[in-house]
Amino acid sequence: MLHNQDSNESQADDAHSLARKTLQHDSNTGDIARSMSETTPFFAQAPRTPEITERFPDLHPPLNRTAAIAEANRCLYCFDAPCTGACPTHIDVPRFIKKIASGNLEGSAKTILDANILGASCSRACPVDVLCEGACVMHRYNKQPIEIAKLQRFAMDALHENGGSLPFSPGEDTGKSVALVGGGPASLACAAELRRHGIKAEIFDARPLPGGLNTYGVAEYKLPLAESLREIDLLAQLGVAFNFSVTVDDKILSDLEASHDAIFLGVGLGGIHQLGITGESLPGVQNALDYIADYKSGKVTAAPRRVAVIGAGNTAIDAANAAVRLGAADVHLIYRRGREQISAFAFEYEHAKQEGVKFLWHTTPIGILGADAVEALDLVTLEASSNGPSPPQARENFQLSIDLVILAIGQSTHTDFLKNGQIKLEGGHVLIDRVTGQTTNPKYFAGGDCTNGGREVVDAVADGKRAGIGIAAWLEGQRANT
Ligand code: SF4
Repeated sequence: MLHNQDSNESQADDAHSLARKTLQHDSNTGDIARSMSETTPFFAQAPRTPEITERFPDLHPPLNRTAAIAEANRCLYCFDAPCTGACPTHIDVPRFIKKIASGNLEGSAKTILDANILGASCSRACPVDVLCEGACVMHRYNKQPIEIAKLQRFAMDALHENGGSLPFSPGEDTGKSVALVGGGPASLACAAELRRHGIKAEIFDARPLPGGLNTYGVAEYKLPLAESLREIDLLAQLGVAFNFSVTVDDKILSDLEASHDAIFLGVGLGGIHQLGITGESLPGVQNALDYIADYKSGKVTAAPRRVAVIGAGNTAIDAANAAVRLGAADVHLIYRRGREQISAFAFEYEHAKQEGVKFLWHTTPIGILGADAVEALDLVTLEASSNGPSPPQARENFQLSIDLVILAIGQSTHTDFLKNGQIKLEGGHVLIDRVTGQTTNPKYFAGGDCTNGGREVVDAVADGKRAGIGIAAWLEGQRANT
């Protein structure tokens, strides 16, 4: 339920002041204590590291006004547009593009934000070749698809440049509140939807800044950390409250359950799997997500000379490209299967080749060698197997001198704290009703990677939005029944 802006301004202001709380967790007692602290916008808190800015410029530079209007005028504004159907959040693409063509940039941004509160980050991070742009009718006429992502970014950048106010307000206060565990895209989208329905939304995150993978896990040349934070500042205008630096365990979860009307789980996935070989604990072995977070936040500004990345998904490619850009002379991506079996998108593979990453196919590490730190990888080449799941046979051993090994062989789940039997898991993932996001415990909802095993940012946003609507409907049903 939306309400007019004037009557909600004070509510939004009050809630905005809540949005800068820090939650402290007493590790002895398990208690949580909130304290007012930070009033600086998230965007201003972003670490600025000149080396990183210089080495990770925009992969796809933005359109200027003339180019944006020309591109918008190329769109056919299709009825029942396939680009909209291909977007998990169903942004009305022809509508926002038409508004760019007519110079109504605020209206264009509102159209985007109405469907996708993280429209700015999605315009940079989405694999549009396999989503909206891949579905554009221009392909049928052998023409270049409309540059939807760049147009979306153009409209969202214009919104930020003009002060960055949200084109809608929180809904009339219902007196209900929801705790959201995890501060990534699913929770952010859910929180925005809850605020638009007049429900208090309080996010709890283990990191010192919000955004989850958007802030810490997407390659900097696609989505800079500061840009992710700038977008999240918009959610503070809606009155979303943030609590940082706390890892929610089963004790804290029970406290949150007692103090809130519903819980949303947007906890993503856990750490990267281990290889289970000797030498894995040596200094110089790191997981890909930590590596990406470290350079994005400026903790790492240079790579050693020889780097090996184990794995061949999109995260592996991001880590390998990062090592090249951070100055490594030799970056190998090592994969036990062949080129055709990689899980990375084809365009990501092509990009990595252009960056200078070398690929070792049908190769797997059997040991990490070194006295006090990594010095080499013990590798074995494998017979390419056309035999489905049968284990490939080893062919020959060799060693590769390496200074840094980055593991990117898939993520484990992060649902141990839910194993009280009240919430059903399947393969470690939270089982939900896909329409409402509700789990097998009616007070709990969930979305994003912890429910689907790891998909795109835009899928997490769609999940969060659906769950926000699902929670609002469930709370309304509860109220009607009392
Ligand atoms: Fe425009 Fe292509 Fe979408 Fe049609 S399918 S509305 S041409 S972007």
